[in-house]
Amino acid sequence: MRFDDLTVPIAPPKPLNQTSVTTLKGVGPALAKKLAAIDIRTVQDMLFHLPSRYQDRTQILSIAELVAGQQALIEGDIRGARVAFGKRRSLVVTIDDGSARPITLRFFHFNAAQKNTLQVGERLRCYAEVRRGQQGFEMVHPEYTVLKDAFDEPEDSLTPIYPTTEGLHQLSLRKLTDQSLALLSKGAAVHDYLPEGLLHNENLPTLAQALLTLHRPANTEAIEALTSGEHPACARLAFEELLAHRLGMLQLRDLHRKLQAKPLRSKGDLRHKFLSQLPFQLTGAQQRVVTEVIEDIDNERPMLRLVQGDVGSGKTVVAAAAACEAVASGVQVALMAPTEILAEQHYKGFCQWFEPLGVRVGWLSGRLNAKERRDSQQLIASGEVRIAIGTHALFQVDAKFAELGLVIIDEQHRFGVDQRKALRDKGMQGLMPHQLVMTATPIPRTLAMTSCADLDYSAIDELPPGRKPITTVAISEKRRPEVVQRVAAAIAEGRQVYWVCTLIDESETLTAQAASDTAELLAEGLPDASVALVHGRLKPEQKDLVMSHFKSGAVDLLVATTVIEVGVDVPNASLMIIENPERLGLSQLHQLRGRVGRGEIASTCVLLYHSPLGHDARERLAAMRETQDGFVLAERDLALRGGGEVFGTRQTGLVGMRIADLVRDRAMMPSVVTAATRMRESYPEHVKALVVRWLGTRAQGYGSV
Ligand code: ADP
Ligand code: MG
Repeated sequence: MRFDDLTVPIAPPKPLNQTSVTTLKGVGPALAKKLAAIDIRTVQDMLFHLPSRYQDRTQILSIAELVAGQQALIEGDIRGARVAFGKRRSLVVTIDDGSARPITLRFFHFNAAQKNTLQVGERLRCYAEVRRGQQGFEMVHPEYTVLKDAFDEPEDSLTPIYPTTEGLHQLSLRKLTDQSLALLSKGAAVHDYLPEGLLHNENLPTLAQALLTLHRPANTEAIEALTSGEHPACARLAFEELLAHRLGMLQLRDLHRKLQAKPLRSKGDLRHKFLSQLPFQLTGAQQRVVTEVIEDIDNERPMLRLVQGDVGSGKTVVAAAAACEAVASGVQVALMAPTEILAEQHYKGFCQWFEPLGVRVGWLSGRLNAKERRDSQQLIASGEVRIAIGTHALFQVDAKFAELGLVIIDEQHRFGVDQRKALRDKGMQGLMPHQLVMTATPIPRTLAMTSCADLDYSAIDELPPGRKPITTVAISEKRRPEVVQRVAAAIAEGRQVYWVCTLIDESETLTAQAASDTAELLAEGLPDASVALVHGRLKPEQKDLVMSHFKSGAVDLLVATTVIEVGVDVPNASLMIIENPERLGLSQLHQLRGRVGRGEIASTCVLLYHSPLGHDARERLAAMRETQDGFVLAERDLALRGGGEVFGTRQTGLVGMRIADLVRDRAMMPSVVTAATRMRESYPEHVKALVVRWLGTRAQGYGSV
């Protein structure tokens, strides 16, 4: 499913989005290929390819005015030009403008043609960073033009620097944007889909104005505002992009709502029985979310709901309570987890909860042998199994359900748009199963209002009572022996410990090796402890075996790579050491730390860092010490990373923004939401076009049903 299919197409006049770049002067097949490598295929793409920064070449500075370190444009006569044979052969040219001592230009790479051009007596204009050399100022490899005409004016706009790719020069990009902007000024259509009233209210320029400004800002414009994105021209495009994202997601939501589902309703007996057998009461937040889910599945349109709850907030019982309703109303439930370890943990838990209630729980994973798998599938297909738990295997082509009514997905990307049909095929007579997606990833507001706007949302914003806060300390690697003592003490008290080794150079192999060395050293240092090792290079069976030994308490100390990040629940583990925490982002640190503090014992997390720490790393570790609140950490993460790679974007499978910035532009969100509603009411024909413009070919990557 692509966004293009969603609404009736409209035909903008003379559209530049249908004009190939090859119609521009100078674009042959070779250049076209390079442009395509940075996603420029049409003239409109060219116009939306915006500079990442600017240089000021509008003012010619005199040599007397120069300051070392600045980028400057100068102009003067060539007084000397010679090839110097020092450590490296170089072409040395001196330029005099009469204001001060001449400046030296150095070219370490030069050809005969250059040597011939740079002759004494010629007049030269150069641009480069100014350095202090042995004899006055120098420029190394400046950009230069030989002035044929004494009255040649300097540039009248700031010089854009475009993001580019190998072999594609700034000068070509400038020439191509010049041509594209000329077409735009002549009235060729890059359709402005934002209504005038809106632009007026929001104080935003038109699209054409914004594009012209961003590509060729007048020398009076502030470079800082343009670069940081605070400039109204940037705001205009960011607004449009955020709007497009929201509209796209709302379209998907509409589409989803047109599907039919079986309303799931019961008197609640099974649920009450289930809840009364739990050793605890649901928290207020859990109760509220259960109610929201139960109301939502009693509906002819399929539920698509995201339940967000911080690590340890108790999402699993909420899922189980929803499963009770579904089972009681006569349909099957599928619960899918991203890893075997997690799926099996759920399977065991659900068996304990549901078998006493007479509800059969089934298991399906990619690792069953052929016969086990057939048997398991048969039980699901016949309807004997009412709750099927497993990994992706649950939704493979040959997996059949008798009457699937509710799908629960734990800690996992949402189903892709293209998987929607597969999911519907698993439902009954073309009915769509209801879907509950559970995540520990806090969703920043901007993201919730744009890229998640197709989902309903519930938050479990309260932890079960009696949780002892986790004490987090940062300790230098130099004090490692003390930390090992701490581990020994915890084990002597009957507690279990995680020792986490972080990723080295993005290499699983190196990391696994480091973890295995660490495990060996720790085993030597802790002769009374049972130490085990788990990492990504182990076979899944081996991994599971180790995990199950840790869960049963047979293993005291688990040395692990970040594979244990998600969902594992061992309440007796009360100490976690994270080595080289400076390598991890806040989101990952928070997820890892959530593995402890799950029982009644006070837990500790030791961040065993290597000095010296960079500024950001120090900030991250400080944030970890100060708070345990996932939302607060998400906000900090966002601020630290400047919204580049958003907290959890990867986990939630969402597409990033091109121009908008989730931190910088969050104040726009209320207006974007209102504008989206108005566009849908008053300009429905513009909605699809906007969505295609911003999300077009990437729309498939959008994880959503
Ligand atoms: P997560 O939201 O991280 O998936 P889990 O569902 O694994 O959390 O729950 C974490 C632990 O808290 C489990 O051991 C679970 O049994 C326990 N738990 C869940 N809800 C409550 C509650 N209301 N009171 C006490 N303990 C609870
Ligand atoms: Mg969980």
